[in-house]
Amino acid sequence: MSATRLFTEADLSAGTEAELTEAQAHYLRHVMRRPDGSPLLLFNGRDGEWAAELALRGKKAAAARVSERTRPQVVEPDLWLCFAPIKRARIDYVAEKATELGVTVLQPVLTQHTAVERVNVGRLRANAVEAAEQTERLSVPEVRTPVDLMRLLGEWPAGRRLLMCDETGGGPPIAGALAGLDDAARAAPWAIVIGPEGGFASAELTALRRMKDVTAVGLGPRILRADTAALAALACWQALVGDWRQPTPRLSSDYRSSRGAV
Ligand code: SAH
Repeated sequence: MSATRLFTEADLSAGTEAELTEAQAHYLRHVMRRPDGSPLLLFNGRDGEWAAELALRGKKAAAARVSERTRPQVVEPDLWLCFAPIKRARIDYVAEKATELGVTVLQPVLTQHTAVERVNVGRLRANAVEAAEQTERLSVPEVRTPVDLMRLLGEWPAGRRLLMCDETGGGPPIAGALAGLDDAARAAPWAIVIGPEGGFASAELTALRRMKDVTAVGLGPRILRADTAALAALACWQALVGDWRQPTPRLSSDYRSSRGAV
């Protein structure tokens, strides 16, 4: 039986028991019909990945008996995705795909031309957890509450570079701009900034272009929808700056997880 891979908030070390959430217990007991002792893999974003066994408790609850570490925690590139909220199905898609592509923070931003203002942060987080479980990531990106773009820029952390996707033209193509970075720029924390479906307002474009560590780039001759632009920019960034530059590590095949996650 292949192991089911789950995110947990609990600390993980050999011999401990991690309580599973109600949703996880329900999924393992009633959806997957896993018996007591079934193999699990757990990660919490801090302690690496651990092999564990399902411990059924009473009629509803479940815990995990943690045995040995299967992978050490790794340091991931520090990459935020700042994007304007879009309609439900497409924002869920961005949360899932951006998690697969390795973002560390999902930051919804409200702009003058943002059509959708309400964001269900809890649902985005659930999407991010599920994607992290399935994609063999060792962490889950932090999903932040929406913030006004101008305020975000006003409080921008020193040293975090911005990759601004600018559909109005004039910026260099993304590949050349990223390939030309020096080692210090590559090692810096980054953020990718994508505008709303209605585009950035001119005051916003001016404010973005005035930021200290901003690189405005183009993503080719076609205007992409915001979700496509986010994922295209993320893929380029990982390939030219991030962890796609390293050989793909082997995963511990003895413990390979099943693809279905909670
Ligand atoms: N409403 C705008 C398009 C906005 S597309 C218009 O019709 O002109 C949404 C966002 O995706 C943009 O703000 C930009 O950040 C990004 N984007 C889309 N296509 C792009 C391209 N070819 N180059 C750079 N960024 C792009």
